[in-house]
Amino acid sequence: MIKKLLIANRGEIAVRIIRTCKEMGIETVAVYSPIDKDSLHVQLADEAFCVGGNKISESYLNMHNIISAAILSKCNAIHPGIGFLSENADFARKVKEYGLIFIGPSAECIEKMGNKSMAKDTMKEAGIPVVPGSCGIINDVEEGKKIAYEIGYPVLIKASAGGGGRGMRIANSEDKFEESYYTAKNEAKAAFLDDSVYLEKLILNPRHIEFQVLADNYGNIVHLGERDCSIQRRNQKLVEESPSVFLTKEKRKTMGDIAVLVAKNIGYSNAGTVEFVVSQDCSFYFIEMNTRIQVEHPVTELVTGIDLIKQQIRIASNLELNFKQDDINFKGHAIECRINAENTYDNFKPSAGTVTSLLLPGGFGVRMDTALYQGYKIPPFYDSMIGKLIVYGNTRLDAIRKMRRSLEELIIDGVDNNIEFQYLIMHHPKFIRGNFDTGFVDNLMEELVQ
Ligand code: ADP
Repeated sequence: MIKKLLIANRGEIAVRIIRTCKEMGIETVAVYSPIDKDSLHVQLADEAFCVGGNKISESYLNMHNIISAAILSKCNAIHPGIGFLSENADFARKVKEYGLIFIGPSAECIEKMGNKSMAKDTMKEAGIPVVPGSCGIINDVEEGKKIAYEIGYPVLIKASAGGGGRGMRIANSEDKFEESYYTAKNEAKAAFLDDSVYLEKLILNPRHIEFQVLADNYGNIVHLGERDCSIQRRNQKLVEESPSVFLTKEKRKTMGDIAVLVAKNIGYSNAGTVEFVVSQDCSFYFIEMNTRIQVEHPVTELVTGIDLIKQQIRIASNLELNFKQDDINFKGHAIECRINAENTYDNFKPSAGTVTSLLLPGGFGVRMDTALYQGYKIPPFYDSMIGKLIVYGNTRLDAIRKMRRSLEELIIDGVDNNIEFQYLIMHHPKFIRGNFDTGFVDNLMEELVQ
């Protein structure tokens, strides 16, 4: 059993994990960089270790120091959270080698899904629908152009090691291919130290719909419904909701069954997310599987009543899932707005500084996952997401009304933030009607400058 757990992360997700651990009677150990020494996750954990400098390569990606901290503090498990080392197969392997439990899937599963072009090929072979594209990575411009010609423009050039929308470029025609190819490659190299890219047909005006799965070590796999994450800026999610207004009951069942099949196919265990792009004619295509907990997991928690971090810990403790697919009771509607410290009107430029005043919303069906407190100094080194506002209502309209009211209450002074921008989205007729695709935010930006 897990008695003491180290959280290899920071910010709101570290706080989120610590909260569930406390409820489960598990002691917690935080890690931090010098600039994070007064962070909420450090204050809430039972113990905390500084694991290196402020740069992420020196601390939050420092496998050696993180594992040493776990051993020194007598932890028997590590939760990697989101980002950082959460999808690093070497880390998962090392954690295990040192006799600790990794809260996540096996290193082999992480590897299989980490290379996105290989993952797609594996899924295609297993009969899962995937976006038409190259078989594996493309080796040079000429090969890329040949495949692009075959699948037809516009095409998307994607980093095989991709994540967070980086290393992804559209080529609308052959004369634009070379430029997009090298831009994608350079961005991939800078972000992932791996410049391999593959090709996919660009699905026009798609929705991004993903399924949460849970799999235990005994072959039991369930899905916890979908999340519609189509409100994105530059392929990064801004608003997520569950259920998706776009799916019929039948489509939900088909896609959910396929998500379970994806997990089964690679012998998956723990929590994971199977992502699809869905075209306007309702065809759906697997794009990738994230082998970790996701930022947007709370919307699923609110509509199912299932604590996903608790499930992750139970599964990693070798416990069997204590419910079956038919036991999952989907109820109501949940929406999450990501709250980012950024200036919407200056090209979403990240903002750092001291939170001079803070007022968090509350009331029935309102949840705010954040590590902010009044006087907290947001450092310039890390992600600009500073919180997540999640609401639950009986219907989608109830949830939208609750989100508007909660955004009105939320005050974060001292740093630029996107509260007002989220407020605009919640009032947009297309969002209210559920009539949107992944181009929604770009279109909204155009409306705003007119
Ligand atoms: P990352 O891992 O960088 O987040 P994904 O493959 O998950 O990359 O894609 C991120 C987003 O990019 C998707 O949510 C979708 O909006 C868009 N996207 C990805 N593949 C396609 C495609 N073939 N056609 C259209 N949009 C796509």
